[in-house]
Formats: sequence, C-alpha cells, structure tokens
Amino acid sequence: MKFTPEKYRIADERMKPFIDPDEIWEYINAAKPTPETVQNIINKSKSKQRLNLQEVATLIAADDEESVKAIKAGARFIKTSVYGNRIVLFAPLYIGNHCTNNCTYCGFRTDNKDQQRMTLEDHEIVKEVEALEDNGQKRLILVYGEHPKYSAEYIAHTVKTVYGVKKGNGEIRRVNINAAPLDIEGFKTVKESGIGTYQIFQETYHPEAYKWYHLSGKKADYNYRLTGLDRAQEAGVDDVGIGALFGLYDWRFEVMALIRHTNHLEACYNIGPHTISFPRITDASTSQIKKQYMVNDHDFARIVAILRLAVPYTGLILTARENVAVRNEVLDFGVSQIDGGTKLELGSYHETKNETQNLNREQFMINDNRSLNEVIEELIEKGNIPSFCTACYRLGRTGEHFMEFSVPGFIKRYCTPNALLTLAEYLQDYAPKETFDKGWKLIEKTLETELKEQKNVAEIKDRLEQIKAGKRDLYF
Ligand code: SAM
Ligand code: SF4
Repeated sequence: MKFTPEKYRIADERMKPFIDPDEIWEYINAAKPTPETVQNIINKSKSKQRLNLQEVATLIAADDEESVKAIKAGARFIKTSVYGNRIVLFAPLYIGNHCTNNCTYCGFRTDNKDQQRMTLEDHEIVKEVEALEDNGQKRLILVYGEHPKYSAEYIAHTVKTVYGVKKGNGEIRRVNINAAPLDIEGFKTVKESGIGTYQIFQETYHPEAYKWYHLSGKKADYNYRLTGLDRAQEAGVDDVGIGALFGLYDWRFEVMALIRHTNHLEACYNIGPHTISFPRITDASTSQIKKQYMVNDHDFARIVAILRLAVPYTGLILTARENVAVRNEVLDFGVSQIDGGTKLELGSYHETKNETQNLNREQFMINDNRSLNEVIEELIEKGNIPSFCTACYRLGRTGEHFMEFSVPGFIKRYCTPNALLTLAEYLQDYAPKETFDKGWKLIEKTLETELKEQKNVAEIKDRLEQIKAGKRDLYF
C-alpha cells in the first residue's frame, strides 16, 4: 500500500492513545446490576451482538452467586453455539531471552543478573522445531525478549527458518509471534515472512500502574506499546492479538480496557482482535509485583466468562500458566485455543533434561506440565475435539472470527471437519495406541451425530480415509 501524506495524517489520528482511565472508572463505579439487567445483557450476547462498555461494567459488578451462575451459563452457550466443541492447540517456542527492558514481573528483565541469557542459533531452532513436530505440533507462537538482536529482519528470518523445517510428516503450518511492538516498516517485514497472528499484551492498561512495573527500556513508553497494533494494521498485519497481564492492576479495569481496545480496533480498521489473552502472573526469577492485585480463581473464571460474552467472535487463549484444574474449569466458558506440551526453558524441547523447571532459564513458572498427548487425551475424554487446523489463514479466509460469528453453519462446514482431519493426522502419526483408539471413536461419533445431516459428510469421510492411507494436509 502506498502511503500519501494524507494517509499519514489519518494514521497519526488513529494512533492516538485511546484509553481514558477516568472514563473507565466512571463506568465501573456507575454500574448497578439487577437480575433483569444482567439477564438482558446475557441475552444480547446470546443473540450475537457485541456488548458495550456500560454492559460489560454491569457484568463485572454482578458478583452475587445467581448472576455469576447466569454469566457462566451464557458463556457456555456462546462457546457451544459459536465455537462448537473444538479446541485449537499450539505451543510456544522461545527464541531468545536477551532483553533491554525492566519489567519487574518478568524473569528476562535486564536487571535480573541470575537469568542465563541465550538466543537459539539457526541449527538449534531447527532441532527445537523437529522435536515439536515429533510431538505432533502444527502451530507455534515464537516468543522473544526485546533487544536490538531481535530486529524485524531477524524475527522474519526465524519465522522462515521454522516454516522450512520438515521432518517425516511433520511441518509447522502457522507461526504466530509474541514480541515487542515494531514500527510500520518492521511490521511489513515480519508480515512478508508469512506470520499468522502478531500478539502484543499491554500488560496493564492503566498508565500510572504501567509506570510501577516498567522501569526502563523502550517498553517504559506506554503509548508506543498501546498503539503498536495500530501500526501493525497500518502495515497490513490485520491478524492481531491483544492481552492484559492479570495481577498488575485491578482486574475490573483491565477487562474494561481490553473491550475498549477491541472497540478501537473495530472502529478504526473494521476488524477486531483475532485473539484476546488473559495471562495471570506466575512466579518468575527475582520478580517483584504488588500482591494486592493478584486475581483469585473465582474471579479468573468470571473474567473468562465476561470476555466471552463481551466479544463473542474473538478467540480466547488460555495457557499453561494455569494449573490443570483451572484450565479444565474455564475451558467451558468459551476458550478456543490452549497450549499443550509447553516448555519455556530455551532449547528444552530437544534437550532431555531433568523435569524440574529452572526459573533462571525461563521467563516464568508454568503450572501445567502435561505432555501434548496427555492434553489431547484429556480433551478427547471430555468430548472436546483437539484441532491443529490452519485452513482459514492458508485459504485467505481472513476476518474468520466474523465469519464464525455471523455465518450460521460455519463451524459445521469448516471448523469441525478440519478439526477431525487434523486430529486424524495426529492419531495416525504420533498417538500412542490408547489415544489412537479414543480419538478415532470421537471422530466416528462426531460423524454420526453432529455432522450426520451435513451435505458434505461423504467427502469428510473420504478425506479421513485418505489420511488413513497416508495423505496429509487436507482441509476445507
Ligand atoms: N518481550 C516481549 C514483550 O514484552 O512484549 C514479548 C513478550 S513476553 C516474552 C510474553 C508475555 O509474557 C508478556 O507480554 C507478559 O504478559 C507475560 N509475562 C511476563 N512475565 C510473566 C509472569 N511472571 N507471569 C506470567 N506471564 C508473564
Ligand atoms: Fe523483556 Fe518482555 Fe520480559 Fe519485559 S516482558 S522484561 S520486555 S521479555
């Protein structure tokens, strides 16, 4: 796209900070929920309409037992009606932990002299990706500290390196990024390497609180980070992920601000965030945070359910920062993506080391250490279809979340069949016998129930047979 001076002016306007803390607090403080208003808001969401800030504030304030139950039931309804029962799986791959910033909650921060610093060399990236492929992974998110070493060109190089690794039937079909915000040129460079989503978490949306934790380095500039995804959009990266790190400031404020950020992206670019992440702080090497903002499990479940109702079309990502019990509980409230078989220590997918986590070699502690296969087996047992689908992104069906949300039958036409096809590949290539049997049973059951009346059911069955016969990468 050619940028005219006129265009720059518009871009500048768009990139103005859009969070007004007083406005957000006014909404929170003014909220007066009644059982009727809460139910009306839930019904609005169930009829597939986005919620506004006032409505979200009302759900946040509705903390009595009955309302919380109703909010969770509404979120469950959206999950099944919009997303079906598939859960997309991915793994993080840490490329380098050098960092010039000083985020007090993070083990990678520059002042932490205990952290063992390294950047994977190309041959190590290849080994890591081979190990991930050997486990059955198809979707990765690459993660980097912020450092001059990790320029846009370097990030693009690592993305291409990852896509180039093929081992047996293994390949990575979608690479997402979690890295520092770039300038417009930088985003263009990274886009050309074929990335999926570019994620940037604002950490805390409260400007004053942001100063407490971001002591030095480029990341100390709140506004540059806040407008990072605008620059991504201006560069043509239209698949972006937002997030807040829960535990830094009042969670009610962060939920409202995530919705405000969503409104901003929708208003300026006509496309909302592809994903919303809601990581909770966990222990990190020599980290320092204010304990009064820690979010308990009860409120965490409410956060997930409220986000689900507020933005029904957007993917919600839940990570191994959470323990298995919490993961299983909130999965029901509309989470659409989880990581599986996660290891955060740099180089640890291909190195067999003792299993205890070493916080001086990783960013923070994870609380779910299950292997990918264990995660898959548990999903199957609960009737969820593990999916490695990358079809929409590869077929250029962008704005897919809108499609899922707005086009009736989208899940049955595309998502469920593609989940079955990618699960079938996993079962054939990587699953132990027990998972293999359970997985094929689930596939057959889904064909006999959910997909029974579907027009293309014969074609789905045919493709499953082709996969059994050795074909790979089939999708609708
Ligand atoms: N360095 C880049 C940045 O800060 O944007 C890339 C992302 S960082 C490696 C990944 C994310 O991990 C951060 O955005 C932050 O939200 C999260 N994180 C950092 N420390 C954490 C902790 N102690 N517990 C949980 N999540 C943490
Ligand atoms: Fe560096 Fe990111 Fe950690 Fe901050 S959160 S210290 S920028 S790696």
